[in-house]
This record gives sequence, structure tokens and C-alpha cells, in this order.
Amino acid sequence: MATQSWTTIHSGYELSPYTFKKRSRTATEYYAQPCGDVWFNTRRWKTERVINEAKALKLLAERTRIPIPQFIRCGQNDDGSMFLEMSRVDGIDLSEAGKECRKPGGVRHNSGGGECNKCMDIAKANAEHFIQTVLLPELAKLRSNKTGLDGFVLPPAWMLEYDTRPHWDTKTSSYNEFVFTHGDLGPDNLRMDPNTLMVKCVIDWEHAGYFPPGFQKWAVDDGTYHALYEDHQTIFELARSIEP
Ligand SMILES: [Zn+2]
Repeated sequence: MATQSWTTIHSGYELSPYTFKKRSRTATEYYAQPCGDVWFNTRRWKTERVINEAKALKLLAERTRIPIPQFIRCGQNDDGSMFLEMSRVDGIDLSEAGKECRKPGGVRHNSGGGECNKCMDIAKANAEHFIQTVLLPELAKLRSNKTGLDGFVLPPAWMLEYDTRPHWDTKTSSYNEFVFTHGDLGPDNLRMDPNTLMVKCVIDWEHAGYFPPGFQKWAVDDGTYHALYEDHQTIFELARSIEP
């Protein structure tokens, strides 16, 4: 029984006391929205990306100590949409950490209420430290001689708005040169403990897979993250580097 459910243009979400479920949306749902046809046609692999995340969660749980939602199950709904059910991980997104003073350690930084830049800075510094000392070393353990994950290649989110080709072939190398990457590692996908402002969990692994080390990009603030989408020269070069 869901306690809360909501949708974005791409996905539907259901939160229950112990679980979190996301599902892809059907063509009908896209077309019912203004400009939905554009989104339906440009955001590809609606089924595959859900399966890709399920595979990533299982792999990460088995072979790393990265805090992630626990995989429960994955399957197809009667309407053809795919769902992925995970354990629920409460907290706030890093991008929300400065919306109010969270009083980490009991210290209030602003007396009048409202946004707290100090809390945002603390959360960003904690996230940066977590990425450098936990996430990247753990991801670096996972290497492959093939791009993508299990025969399916979904490049990072910041690449797909610029390079809209309909299919990416797997590239095979003579050695394990490809490293596991998150593929959408920005402040919306780092879930934080609202009291300590430490990272609790890394979410949304739809774009995960094995890629050259140059694909291992991240940012802890929105501006820097969005700049990845605009660096077309780098995107162009990285995209060429994974063509077989
Ligand atoms: Zn504060």
C-alpha cells in the first residue's frame, strides 16, 4: 500500500513505509502531457533503463560497500511499463540541504530562519569527501573490457542531450580499461541525512555502466553539474572514444 505517489514526465513513483518503487511511463501518459510527444521521442530506452538500474543495484550490493537502496524486485506492469522496487531510504537530496538551517550538531547558523548557506556548504563538503574517499575508490574496483552493462550501453545523462543517436554499440577492449560509473552523479542523486548532513545513499543508477575513466564525472552543486551538459567539446570526444 503506497503512502505517497507522484509522477514526473519520465517516471511514476510510489513510496510505502518500507519500499520505494519507480516505473517507466507509457506512451499514452507521455502524449497526455503538453510537449509529451517530444519527451517520448527523445528520451530513449524506457524499459531498458529500468532494467539497467536493477542490474546496477545488484552488482553494487554484491561487490562494493557503496550505500545504495536495496534491490527488491523488477518487472513489467500490465500496461507494459517497467517497475523497480527498492528499499526506502529517507533523507533529503543534497540540492535541498540549504533550504533551511538543519542545525548539524545542534548549532543554528541563522536566527531568522530561511535558507542557510552554511548548511549547504557543510553538506557539499561532506558529499565531496564521500565521493573522493568512498564512492570513487569503490567504483574503481569494478572494471570490464566491455562498455555498458551486460550488453546494453546507456551513456551518462549529460551526454544524451547532446548526442541523440538511437543506439550505442558495445565496445570491447583487449584489457579491462573501463570502470563502473554512475552516469548522473549530481546533487539530486545524493541522499543526505538531514540532521548530520552526511551522505546516506547514492540513488538513481539508471545510467550506470562501464566506461572509460574520463566518463567518471560528478558535481556537488547544480551549476557545476549542469555545466557538464554544456561542455560539448568534451562530450563529443568522449562519445567518439566509445565507438567500436
Ligand atoms: Zn545551518
